[in-house]
Amino acid sequence: MNEFMDTRRRQVLVVDDEEVNRQMLSFILAEQYEVLSAANGVEGMAILKEKKNTIALVMLDLLMPEMDGYEFLRIRHEDEDLRMIPVIVLTSEERSELRTLKLGASDFLKKPYDMPEIIHARVDRLVELTENRRVIQSTERDRLTGLYTKQYFFEYITMRETYFPSHQMDVVALNIEKFHLVNEVFGREFGDRVLKTVAGIISDYLDDNGGFACRSNADWFYLYMECCADYQKMIDSLQMALDRSISEVHVRLRMGVNGVRKDQAEIERRCDWAKTACDTIKDDYTKNLSVYDTAMHEHSLLSIRLINEVDAAILDGQFAVYYQPKYDITGNKPKLKSAEALVRWQHPELGLVSPGTFIPLFEKNGLIQRVDYHVWRTAASQVSAWKKKYDISLPVSVNISRIDLYDPALEEKLTGILEEFGLSHEEYYLEVTESAYVGDQKFIAEAVKRLRRLGFKIEMDDFGSGYSSLNSLSVLPVDVLKMDMKLVQNIHTDYNSLHIAEAVLDIAHFMDLKVVAEGAEEERQVELLKNAGCDIVQGWYFSKPLPPEEFEKLIEAERA
Ligand code: C2E
Ligand code: MG
Ligand code: MG
Repeated sequence: MNEFMDTRRRQVLVVDDEEVNRQMLSFILAEQYEVLSAANGVEGMAILKEKKNTIALVMLDLLMPEMDGYEFLRIRHEDEDLRMIPVIVLTSEERSELRTLKLGASDFLKKPYDMPEIIHARVDRLVELTENRRVIQSTERDRLTGLYTKQYFFEYITMRETYFPSHQMDVVALNIEKFHLVNEVFGREFGDRVLKTVAGIISDYLDDNGGFACRSNADWFYLYMECCADYQKMIDSLQMALDRSISEVHVRLRMGVNGVRKDQAEIERRCDWAKTACDTIKDDYTKNLSVYDTAMHEHSLLSIRLINEVDAAILDGQFAVYYQPKYDITGNKPKLKSAEALVRWQHPELGLVSPGTFIPLFEKNGLIQRVDYHVWRTAASQVSAWKKKYDISLPVSVNISRIDLYDPALEEKLTGILEEFGLSHEEYYLEVTESAYVGDQKFIAEAVKRLRRLGFKIEMDDFGSGYSSLNSLSVLPVDVLKMDMKLVQNIHTDYNSLHIAEAVLDIAHFMDLKVVAEGAEEERQVELLKNAGCDIVQGWYFSKPLPPEEFEKLIEAERA
């Protein structure tokens, strides 16, 4: 709450050299206000500066020794904070009114004083007016940077666009690359300085070019401005100004622009879209500008649609589970060994939606947990059905997303599934992607350890896709390494690729881990993998992921 409003009894400062005047005003106001008094301008100014956050009003005599009322007003006028505190001038001379008004006085009381009720009324009215103004200012402006707050920015634009409907304006989002690191490494105070500097640079830009801006939250800024002919030039000049002001560290800005017309969406949406554009170049050091385009727009609309439909789609059975076989290549003839369960969304209108589209989306908002739980149960029920139908044990692995590992009920859910479908840990494996181990490594490693203690076999998925350090293998609990497609792709055309794959296989074997190579599409790749000592291969060379009925043909072929 505003400090100013929080004081139970507001303070009024009376500055007058005549004691009788001070006493009289005290007497009149004492019931409602805490009255402070000073006998001259110097004393009065000292009190005002010390208590500027709590004093609600000053009553000021003009003719005083040491420092007169005019000088007092002048000093107050030059100080941004003191200027906010209203002053009632106590005077017997009509002539002084204009001069004091120019110096910022708010009202006058004629000596000898009027009736106490009138004095009261005038004091109350001024205090109230000032407080209202302060409240408005505190919701209108961001405290740290002085830019508009997000709420005010949205309201103001909405109002403007109602009155000037034909004006097309762009929305620009500005963000600081890795701002959390700036804060962590250089401290909050430095972080605040960066934010204030960026705000200053934005304000300077808009002063010259028109438009206005807000700080939305943390290090996100939005600008509302006429379409700029060269946004690349704009962001480069903002960046240059920032480099000039902050030379100790290189703080990098990135910018997203949305030019979607306002009749197509309200301002909040247009800001989100500018932010979406800006996010597409996150961590990309080759770009600092991204313009929201039709492709992004369609992607956003699709995302919203998929998120809204996920629950109904699960109930409606639109999520199908496909199975991709893994073949043991150690013998003379490849042998069907196991399979991976891969989800597909059979959307009634959009057709087959690939997990590459919806899994990253659902990982962001946690919806993945619901989809995964459905996939895990479906896969378990399928393993159990094949067991009965063919009297075989064909282990299936399911994918566990990083988000699933944060679910406190995870162990219970998975154990429950095995019990429900009468499966053992040898028939149902878990794949945890390598990137899950990045970040909160300790927590994730603990969660995975707990699953292993329960008996689950863990396959590290996508090993070598970008995040791994070989060293991390020594601390992470896994049973099987799934070598990422990228490591397999070129082994038949490029010696270096082959050597890297061989090295990974050597290390894995040294650590007693089995290796599944993913994404083998050619016979030659499979041969090379076999020579290098790889045990199991999953890839289009053998089969694409298949719906259960088609997968059964592979089982039957194996038995023939
Ligand atoms: P992943 O777990 O690494 O699955 C392997 C992906 O590689 C699958 O893509 C598969 O179709 C593809 N693939 C296999 N062999 C080849 C090949 O020879 N060439 C090429 N080009 N691709 C091959 P898919 O099914 O599109 O799945 C993509 C990713 O989505 C999966 O990668 C996995 O991370 C995730 N995913 C799939 N289903 C689920 C699920 O039920 N839950 C969770 N959390 N993630 C899933
Ligand atoms: Mg997988
Ligand atoms: Mg994989």
